[in-house]
Amino acid sequence: MKNKFFTRKFVPAAQIRRLRKGMVIKMENDKIILTGDRPTGRLHVGHYVGSLRRRVELQNSGEYKKTYIMIADAQALTDNIENPEKVRQNIIEVALDYISCGLDPEKSTLFIQSQISELCELTFYYMDLVTVARLQRNPTVKSEIQMRNFEASIPVGFFTYPISQAADITAFKATTVPVGDDQLPMIEQTREIVHKFNTVYAPVLVEPAALLPEQEACKRLPGTDGKAKMSKSLGNCIYLADTADEVRTKIMSMYTDPLHLQVSDPGHLEGNTVFTYLDAFCRQEHFERYLPDYANLDELKAHYTRGGLGDVKVKKFLNNIMQETLEPIRTRRKELEKEIPAIYEILKKGSEAAQEAAAQTLSQVKSAMKINYFEDAELIRAQSERYEG
Ligand code: ATP
Ligand code: MG
Repeated sequence: MKNKFFTRKFVPAAQIRRLRKGMVIKMENDKIILTGDRPTGRLHVGHYVGSLRRRVELQNSGEYKKTYIMIADAQALTDNIENPEKVRQNIIEVALDYISCGLDPEKSTLFIQSQISELCELTFYYMDLVTVARLQRNPTVKSEIQMRNFEASIPVGFFTYPISQAADITAFKATTVPVGDDQLPMIEQTREIVHKFNTVYAPVLVEPAALLPEQEACKRLPGTDGKAKMSKSLGNCIYLADTADEVRTKIMSMYTDPLHLQVSDPGHLEGNTVFTYLDAFCRQEHFERYLPDYANLDELKAHYTRGGLGDVKVKKFLNNIMQETLEPIRTRRKELEKEIPAIYEILKKGSEAAQEAAAQTLSQVKSAMKINYFEDAELIRAQSERYEG
């Protein structure tokens, strides 16, 4: 029989509204961010528009219960085994870039992946939930294998890194992963692992969602050479820590439109890196400040396609915008560079906090898998009864 106190008519409408509201608030407060970068070099403007800029906004929005930012050194080692020193040296570079961009150790937990041994354990158990064929089909793994010319010599650790990435995300019960679109197949793979785990064992893991930049240009910023993706491994980057001169030189030699030989020639926007960067960085007020002859980017694009607008003018405009964006980051970095021991201390504290959170999840995972033998009084009792009987 239904308990009358639980039927709707005995709960006043206002209370239901409050309950509903409470539920919404609770759900919002349950949102957790996990994201990170490989310490294979300094961070570049592709990271900035693809993920970093958004992370800072999310961190400051107050909508998230926790923000975890991971320096993925263990993942970086999977394809840098000949060069461990590179990974070791770049940890501090990435941390400096993070804090210069506005990630605040008071609000976000900044940590180093290898210091959280729980992540290895989770990876090991998740490996049973994924087939080799599924990993081979992962488009990111496929393209990265190609990019690195691995072919048959691919290290097992690299091949299985989507699984370790699933461990990173789920260890913190992350709901939200702000990334560039090259990472979408990774998040999909994580969701599959979570689904499988929760179905086979018990619903302890959280399915994450990727959070992509809204603008198309930011999802995968091309390199200064016009290649599909700015990437540390391809050496086609504008780094956040580049000097003003370095930024200017890189912009002035950037790939544009090979058919736009004379100023009067009609220009093409497709595949034109300078315009893609303008899409990613330019705001309305930049025209007022640096190029008042044009009302907005559409007008500038229209003039370029019509013919009569030279690449140099557009590049100079982009340079002004990029300098304005990067200058405060560069200045903060210079200050932080004087505080290296304090930055390591931040990473140490962050790693300790991250480890605590990951240990909780690992313990739930082991209970769900029923490999927590010594805490399982029922198992011990049943086994001993079996032998008594
Ligand atoms: P590596 O070449 O070592 O893989 P990377 O430059 O690809 O380095 P990662 O550390 O793999 O950088 O990526 C960290 C984050 O930055 C990911 O969320 C990724 O989607 C994002 N990202 C990297 N490059 C770009 C880019 N060019 N445009 C937009 N987002 C990017
Ligand atoms: Mg990458």
